[in-house]
Amino acid sequence: MARYTGAVCRMCRREGQKLFLKGERCYSDKCSVTSRGYAPGQHGQNRKKISEYGLQLREKQKVRRYYGVLESQFAKYFEMAERKQGMTGPNLLEICESRLDNVVYRLGLASSRAEARQLVVHGHYTVNGRRVNIPSYLVKAGDVVAVCDKSRSSEKIKAVVEANGARPVPMWLELDRDKLEAKVLRLANRDDIDYDVQENLIVEFYSK
Ligand code: SF4
Repeated sequence: MARYTGAVCRMCRREGQKLFLKGERCYSDKCSVTSRGYAPGQHGQNRKKISEYGLQLREKQKVRRYYGVLESQFAKYFEMAERKQGMTGPNLLEICESRLDNVVYRLGLASSRAEARQLVVHGHYTVNGRRVNIPSYLVKAGDVVAVCDKSRSSEKIKAVVEANGARPVPMWLELDRDKLEAKVLRLANRDDIDYDVQENLIVEFYSK
C-alpha cells in the first residue's frame, strides 16, 4: 500500500495552513506553521503571486494531504462525487470524511489520520461487528464503528484514547466512550467541515 513518507510539516507549510498530520505536536507551540509560517525551500519566504491554476492546484493538494489520500485515489473520489446527487464539491468532502481512518481520528480514537490509518491496518477497529483493516473503507449512515474486543485491553489503544479524549467529536458521529463504540448518525455535510477549504477550486481544477 503506497503512502507518502516524506517530511509532513513541509506539507502544512506549503499549504500555509495546519493540516494536523502529527497528532499532539500540531496543537503545541512546536508546530512549524506557528514557528515558520512560510513555504519551505530556499525561496519559501519570497512567494510570488500565484496564478488561478496554482490556486486550484494548491487547494486540491491541501485537501488530498489533509486526508492522507494519494493522487489516483483522490481522482477516483472526485469521479464518485460527480456521479452522486448534489454538488460535486461538498460531495467530495463528504466522501473524504467518510473514510474509516478519518472517522477513527474524528472520534479521538487516534492522534492523527496517519496513526488512525496504521491502527486500522493493524485490525484494531470493527464496523458493524466485523473487523475492517482498510483505511479507505467508506462508512455509511447507521454504521457502528468500535474498537475490537481484543484491542480494548491494549496499552497502545488505552493511551491513544486517553490522550485524545478531550477532542470534540463532530455532530454527525455519536461516541460512547465507555464502550469505545460510535454510531455514524449521518454523513458529514458541508457545515461539518472545520477547516478552511474552497472546494469549488478543486472542481475547477478537475474540470479543465
Ligand atoms: Fe502541520 Fe502538525 Fe507539523 Fe504543525 S505540527 S506543521 S499542524 S503536521
